[in-house]
Amino acid sequence: MTSTDIDAARLTLALNELRLPAIKALWPRFAEQADKEGWRAARLLNALVEHELAERDRRRIERHLAQARLLPGKTLDSFDFNAVPTLSKAHINAITAGDSWIGNGNNILLFGPPGVGKSHLSSAIGLALVENGYRVLFTRTTDLVQKLQQARRDLVLEAAIAKLDKYHLLILDDIAYVTKDQAETSVLFELISARYERRSMLITANQPFGAWDTIFPDPAMTLAAVDRIVHHATIFEMNVESYRRKAAVKAKGPGRPPKQASAADFNPD
Ligand code: ADP
Ligand code: MG
Repeated sequence: MTSTDIDAARLTLALNELRLPAIKALWPRFAEQADKEGWRAARLLNALVEHELAERDRRRIERHLAQARLLPGKTLDSFDFNAVPTLSKAHINAITAGDSWIGNGNNILLFGPPGVGKSHLSSAIGLALVENGYRVLFTRTTDLVQKLQQARRDLVLEAAIAKLDKYHLLILDDIAYVTKDQAETSVLFELISARYERRSMLITANQPFGAWDTIFPDPAMTLAAVDRIVHHATIFEMNVESYRRKAAVKAKGPGRPPKQASAADFNPD
C-alpha cells in the first residue's frame, strides 16, 4: 500500500485535530522515502513519532524561554570566568544540570559589588537551566515586590505566590534594592517562607547579610528571612573589580587612568 491509497487530505486534517504538527508536516515526505527505500512500517512510525517528540520539546523550551524574561545575550559562553577567580566554572556548570539542588528547593546566592557580573551570571544560569528542561523566572526584586504588593491589596497574595510555584527557580536580582516602603508590607518575607525547602531561588545582592535590615520591616524578620534563605544555600562571593569599569579602562587605554587604578587594569591582553 502506498500513500496514494489513502485520503491524504483527511489524514492531514486528522493529524491536525490530534495536534501532531510535526507528523502532519513530515508524513508525505517520510512516506515517500519509506516506499522508495522499502522501510518497514514500524520504522516509519518510529521516525515520525520521534520527530513529533523532538519538536514538542523544542516548542516547550521556546515557551519557557519567553516566560523566563532572561537578560538578552547573557550566556555562560560569553561570561569570562577568568575575571572572577572566586568562581569555579566547573561548579557553575554542575549547577546548570539542576538535579538534586533544584529538586530539594535549595538556593544560590551571588554577592558582589556593582558591575561584577551578578546579573549576567544569574541570567546565564537561568538560560542553561531552561535549556535543560527547568522553568525559570528572572526578575528585579523590586519589580516582583511591587507586583506582590498589588496582589496583597487585591487580596490575592497567596494565589500570586502559589502561581510562582511553577517556576523551579526564581531569580531575584538585586534584593538589596528593595526600598523601605516596599519592605514595610513584607511580601518578600512571605514569598521566601512559601518557597522554603520546596522551590529554589537565586538571589543577587551587592550587600552582605549584615546590611539587609532595610529589606525587611524589622531585625527579627530579617534574621528569619536570612535563616531560611541560607539554610540550604550555595554562596558565591564575587568580590572582584567591576567588569564594566575594567572594560571602560581598556577602551580608553592607559592614557587616562581612573582614580583608583591598579596594575591589573593595564594588562596588555
Ligand atoms: P552586576 O549585576 O554585578 O552589577 P552585570 O551582570 O550587570 O553586573 O555586568 C555588567 C556588564 O559587564 C554586563 O554587560 C555584563 O555582561 C558584563 N560582565 C560582567 N562580568 C562579566 C564577565 N565575567 N564576563 C563577561 N561579561 C561580564
Ligand atoms: Mg545587576
